[in-house]
Amino acid sequence: MPQKIHCLIDSCHYYKTGNKCGAQEILVASDKFGSSQNDDVDYEMAAELTPESADTCMDTCCKSYVAKGSDKIKADGVKKLST
Ligand code: SF4
Repeated sequence: MPQKIHCLIDSCHYYKTGNKCGAQEILVASDKFGSSQNDDVDYEMAAELTPESADTCMDTCCKSYVAKGSDKIKADGVKKLST
């Protein structure tokens, strides 16, 4: 089933024309979690991670973000959708 995540971050490796996320799977986390974890911590570990609460959307981040052209694109195991 095609993913239906819309995203406005066009500097991300997974960003697609039309403001869509082209990653197969992503991990959304708290800002605190995102900034404290290594790049290899991503959706593949999601089932093992502890959920957290957030007060507002400003407290959350896309942990799967990686800048276009970054040498860390393959660090987290996230892949682009084939379609
Ligand atoms: S991985 Fe995250 S930041 Fe990148 S396009 Fe998808 S939703 Fe946006």
